Amino acid sequence: MDESAAGQQPVVIVGGGWAGMAAAVELCHNNVPVVLIEAARQLGGRARSLRFGEYVVDNGQHIITGAYQSLLELLERIGVATENTFTRIPLTLHCLGDECLSLHLRAPRLPAPLNLTGALIKARGLSVRDKLQALRFGRRLQLIDIAVDRDISVRALLHSEGQTPALIAKLWEPLCIATLNTPIGDASARIFLRVLRESFSRQRKHSDLLLPRVELGKLLPNPGNEYLEQHGARVMLGQRVTAVQCASGRVRGVTVGNQTLPASHVVLATPHIVSRRLLSAEPLLAPLCTDLAALGNAPVITLYLQYPTPVQLPHSMTGLHGSVVQWVFDRSHCGAPGMVAVVISATGIHTQMDNDSLTSKVAAELAAAFRHWPAHQHSLVVREKRATFSSTTGIDAHRPDNQTAMQSLWLAGDYTSNGLPATLEGAVRSGLSCARAIIDSTKE
Ligand SMILES: Cc1cc2nc3c(=O)[nH]c(=O)nc-3n(C[C@H](O)[C@H](O)[C@H](O)COP(=O)(O)OP(=O)(O)OC[C@H]3O[C@@H](n4cnc5c(N)ncnc54)[C@H](O)[C@@H]3O)c2cc1C
Repeated sequence: MDESAAGQQPVVIVGGGWAGMAAAVELCHNNVPVVLIEAARQLGGRARSLRFGEYVVDNGQHIITGAYQSLLELLERIGVATENTFTRIPLTLHCLGDECLSLHLRAPRLPAPLNLTGALIKARGLSVRDKLQALRFGRRLQLIDIAVDRDISVRALLHSEGQTPALIAKLWEPLCIATLNTPIGDASARIFLRVLRESFSRQRKHSDLLLPRVELGKLLPNPGNEYLEQHGARVMLGQRVTAVQCASGRVRGVTVGNQTLPASHVVLATPHIVSRRLLSAEPLLAPLCTDLAALGNAPVITLYLQYPTPVQLPHSMTGLHGSVVQWVFDRSHCGAPGMVAVVISATGIHTQMDNDSLTSKVAAELAAAFRHWPAHQHSLVVREKRATFSSTTGIDAHRPDNQTAMQSLWLAGDYTSNGLPATLEGAVRSGLSCARAIIDSTKE
């Protein structure tokens, strides 16, 4: 919609990551004029594409699950046929350790939660006692209630639920690192329980793994951009917002370059650290800035290794226990035969290593795990130092709502109060709920 034709100032969205884009699409869908301003030359933020030789890869291998309902609906709405865009497989955890199988678990095609029960009963690599304890925990998932101010660590939760050392090491710890990007001793039990419930307690399809057949840019960023332009939104790339203009308790607009852009509402869909910087001069927002300062950051490193084409993983996603490598993904499912993506989450010895040493270490671990593989030909290391906020114990108490104390100023982003760890789904839900709150506020 043309903002001048509508006779109203646009909603200005600062940041074209998945939260900002979700908010923009939802507002456009409801005929609200939108200007989206992104500092980078491309949309997508922390989930974007980049070039690696003849291929386009992602700044990080992203795991998407069937529980990402808001994200999947949003993609459908902008014209992405999700059934063709993802390879959907029932939850399968295939993990190697000490050069042999450590854990193999695959959810059968049964309704939830029987699929989880079946997966645990048939799992290889767990003792009968391990399985019984895991099943007991699974049955109690809905019953455990952890209040915001009574949060405990995932390790404490697992101990209190009688989880054995083998279960913790083989199943829960790798799952916690992969989903919360936070070690189990620090990670929030409240957030971990939310992830488990959303994946295993509702419908069977929610626990499916969805492997994108295309790079991330072809999921939301590029089709989203087209949708926005077709619906009259203005998308400004390569433009950094340097200030948020407020007066008399209300937001007035934003500063971009040397111009001020007036706005009916401003959505800050920037990372929490940037939002805090942009808002720190406003006394009214001092408590919010204190909360934002409490949200830490955690890194994720992704290594892409290109092997001669016959190389293939036994399972699209394979874990390595007791190694620097945490998960290996086969990229042949997204058109890059012979390429694997190695994901290493959170802080550890890997974060101290330079790119060459890390690549050598990773290549040696893969060579030990897959003895028949030839040497790799090329590699790329992508380090995201601020990949996610840290899902630490008690963090939910500091996660802000979309609405702020400043009238017509809103926040969107994975870090807002949505109960989930830093995920694409959390970012999309935040953007959507922010847009709906703005639409509701205009009806009041
Ligand atoms: C390596 C890696 C692996 C990950 N793995 C997974 C996974 O497996 N599954 C999963 O669900 N999630 C994963 N995530 C997390 C997921 O990518 C994020 O939660 C999500 O992308 C956050 O989106 P967002 O819109 O909240 O923030 P962002 O993507 O950070 O978007 C903020 C945007 O604001 C822009 N911006 C900043 N400052 C300004 C300014 N002053 N003016 C204008 N624009 C500005 C930025 O350029 C950026 O585009 C991973 C993230 C990384 C980095």
